[in-house]
Amino acid sequence: MRRSAACWILWSGALALANAAFALDVPVATRLPSGLVPDLTQPIDADATERIRRYTTAPEFNSPLTDYLPASKSVPAPQAVLGDVAGAPGYLPYTADVHRYFRLLAEASPRVRVVTIGTSEEGRERIAVAVSSEENLVRSEENRARLAQLADPRRIDLDDARAESLIAASVPVYYITGAIHSPETGSPTALMELAYRLAVDESPYIQKIRESLITLITPVVEVDGRDRMVDLYRWHLAHPDSAWPRLAYWGRYVAHDNNRDAMGMTLSLTRNVLDTHLGWHAQVLHDLHESVPFLYDNTVGAGPYNAWVDPLLTHDWQLFGWSNVAEMTKLGMPGVFTHGEFDTWSPGYLMFLAAMHHSVSRLPETFGNGGADTEVRELSPEQYSRTWYRQDPPWPRVEWSQRNNNNYQQTGLLVALAFAAENRTQLLSNFYARGKRAIAKPLREGPSAWVLPADDRRPEAQAELLRVLGRQHVEISRTSQPFTVRLASAKGPGAAAAADAAQERGAEGDERLLPTGSYVVRMDQPYSRVADALLDRQYWSPDDPQKQPYDDTGWSLGELFDVEALRLVDGAILSAPMSLVATPVAALSGVSGTGPVFLVAQRGADAMLPLRYAVDTAAGGDRISGVKVEATTAAFRSQARDFPRGSWIVTGIDRERMNETATRLGITVVAAPERPPVETRPVPRPRLALLHSWLNTQTEGWWRQRLDLLGVPYDYISTQDVAVTADLGAKYDVILFPPVGVAEPQRIVTGLPMFGGPLPWMTTAETPHLGTIDSTPDQRPGLGFAGLEHLRRFVVGGGLLVAVEDTAELLIANGLTPGVRVTDADKVKVAGSILDARFPAQTSQGDPALPPSPITDGFGSRLSVYSAEGMSFELSRLASGGFASDESTGRPTGRGGKDEIDTPQGRAFPAAPAPPTAERWESLPLTSEQKRRNPNVIPEPLLPRALLRFGDAKELLVSGLLDHGGDLARRAAVVQAPVGKGNILLFAINPIWRGSTIGSHPLVWNAILAYDRLSPEPR
Ligand SMILES: [Zn+2]
Repeated sequence: MRRSAACWILWSGALALANAAFALDVPVATRLPSGLVPDLTQPIDADATERIRRYTTAPEFNSPLTDYLPASKSVPAPQAVLGDVAGAPGYLPYTADVHRYFRLLAEASPRVRVVTIGTSEEGRERIAVAVSSEENLVRSEENRARLAQLADPRRIDLDDARAESLIAASVPVYYITGAIHSPETGSPTALMELAYRLAVDESPYIQKIRESLITLITPVVEVDGRDRMVDLYRWHLAHPDSAWPRLAYWGRYVAHDNNRDAMGMTLSLTRNVLDTHLGWHAQVLHDLHESVPFLYDNTVGAGPYNAWVDPLLTHDWQLFGWSNVAEMTKLGMPGVFTHGEFDTWSPGYLMFLAAMHHSVSRLPETFGNGGADTEVRELSPEQYSRTWYRQDPPWPRVEWSQRNNNNYQQTGLLVALAFAAENRTQLLSNFYARGKRAIAKPLREGPSAWVLPADDRRPEAQAELLRVLGRQHVEISRTSQPFTVRLASAKGPGAAAAADAAQERGAEGDERLLPTGSYVVRMDQPYSRVADALLDRQYWSPDDPQKQPYDDTGWSLGELFDVEALRLVDGAILSAPMSLVATPVAALSGVSGTGPVFLVAQRGADAMLPLRYAVDTAAGGDRISGVKVEATTAAFRSQARDFPRGSWIVTGIDRERMNETATRLGITVVAAPERPPVETRPVPRPRLALLHSWLNTQTEGWWRQRLDLLGVPYDYISTQDVAVTADLGAKYDVILFPPVGVAEPQRIVTGLPMFGGPLPWMTTAETPHLGTIDSTPDQRPGLGFAGLEHLRRFVVGGGLLVAVEDTAELLIANGLTPGVRVTDADKVKVAGSILDARFPAQTSQGDPALPPSPITDGFGSRLSVYSAEGMSFELSRLASGGFASDESTGRPTGRGGKDEIDTPQGRAFPAAPAPPTAERWESLPLTSEQKRRNPNVIPEPLLPRALLRFGDAKELLVSGLLDHGGDLARRAAVVQAPVGKGNILLFAINPIWRGSTIGSHPLVWNAILAYDRLSPEPR
């Protein structure tokens, strides 16, 4: 649910605009710094130049570098497609139009080349445009081959002399990406004009850029979202007096979070950009954003810096950042600054792909209006105040145009490109040095390697983690013999949980025998840093001067995948017999053994969910009769293998079909001659719905993406659908209600205010790209009280409703889950952290433990979980009150010490009964007085039950930031609340988040596949 990004916050407020016109009358200084001098004797396009000046709201908001347009007889300027200059008011080009212009440019100029770099989730093309001198482009393959050797210094035996001659002969690549954030609309036109300038302008500094660099441009990164945003703008032009509908969807799945995918790499845009960046061996990745006035280079940031990047990189951030600020200030443009509040800790941002692959990451924010209207904007005092790093701050109130934004973007880029051209040799030598230093990791800071043992309890999750590393272009090796390694003992927060996890997996002492086939991620490889950063643990001190983490503070992927990743410091592992494996790494899959009975071990594989739907569905989607899927209620042994509780027995399916399905889904199946003698329950095939609100679709988008990646059939419904569907049970067995991401959950019920006119999200001639994922004639109405009642009835009738974070809070606050409340723990500080959690084995009263819930099948005794903000639950046996933390635990004023009992004087002393106690994740037993005549007593079968609780205080933090963890320790993290014949499953953690929490997915999948068996049998 974390969404602290400035882009997001500022965009939300971006449409709060003043109406009054504002005249600017400020004298213009002469401002031509040495070196950056445009040649105004070349042919100039007078009409375009006049338009550029007219669309710029004050001379200060342009620079001498971009306040004219060179003319060309042979090369078309952006007007050829736009019908006006870049940044003209009232028009935004669609992705296809942007691409069409770059192709026209490439056809007309030998200095421009266009390549396809991939396609989006919705099938739109993504491109990269190379602009350089004709000679550089003709020889780009030779250049690429040289850069490849600098990128991987092993190819030249780490020989600095050879590197030096390669550097002297090579042209660096500066990669620019635009429009990843769809409401930030300026960069496509800015990049069109920039490419034109780079292709035709004959100013000496431009010639130098052309000769010294290959400028690589992806003008639209989020191609799907761009087209939707252009639609929305067209709608606005047709309805100028109305408030705007919300841009409900940007990309297919996520909005702003498309810039948080650089770890999990689940989105095509992340993979396309990284493959392009590494394919060209680029030295810089410069990602354009538009949410801070007037230009903020946030890469320099305020810290803490990511702990795994090379210091040589952070020096380059500073050099680029401060030099750009100085040059633009000299050019007379106000409000250009660096440093700021960004922390540069998380490697989740698109630009950070460069930082993690030993090139330079950069992220400037300019000021955009979200559309192409010219408007008066009022800044907040935080935005226009002068600080030590912003000595020339933006103006408090300003008339702002899209052209202004394009001027800042282009000038910022030209200044940066000129700096890169000037410092070409240093750019390349630092690039080479960082690669070499990455290879030297085992000899210097360590570790030597990360190892993922072949006998992991969750091989499918392990394979998924290896695939993520593969997408990061990390080399992975596999041992060909058993090998014993010495383990470094973990220290510090989270070490206890790590030790417990290791012990559970059979690790003992400080040595470990790695079976043949264990995966080794060697740290003597060029991209060692990304693997190390992703697999290591993070620690964000509660005393850090940075009090507002910009994003998640912890991400350790081994923990979040519930997969063992051993950090080896001892260098012996590097001489173990091993060979490189091809990526993507595949888990063993398909059917082994013989016989008509198929056994699927329950190991928490994602594939279990789609497997259930696939085994009895023929190619056309029709059900095949006779296929039976059962889950065992105890562990068993068959075919010389151990099968944990919850493993499946599949019968009535032929081997070929089973093998094809298991292979496709990446899961192993063992055939047996006969059914093992073990108790089972049928595994249903639930009718599934995923429920979203029109307020926000992003956090839900990560859930939708996972269901789609797995190929699970489901209906995608909105809170508005639920509001008008009285009998949800007639259509669905399970409804997933992922987090909406609102601070006040009741807004999910109320929706947007019904002021003004409807806010449609529909496919129309005017808006052909809207309404394709879901549609509504009016985004404003919410779930409503009718919708809440329909959800309640659905559960009472036997359905399963899964609610998470704010949707859980909503159901609790509205009385749907008696005996559960959200813990009031204001002091707890968590910021997207990984926390230790445990599966409670039995009650503290020593009751015979409830039978294990099928939701916990496939897990060990503990799990690392993702917590956005430290939410937890408390339980009670009363529908009103009765929570343990409300009970007084002190003693009254009286005789004796603190732990003694007060004794009234002059009378006999009847001892009081011992007060009831319970673990913090349980409900307190009721006293006879509480039960007396009390309609609030929850009947035994309807008592809420904690299925997962947070770990003890001293081992609670696994990775990231945690303060006052004692208030969160041992509290309930996942609660099953029986309601009528059904259940509500409440999550205080987010089990499906940014493609990175593979470990906790089965909490949801297991619940779906046992929705009808969740209530324990009466004891
Ligand atoms: Zn942005």
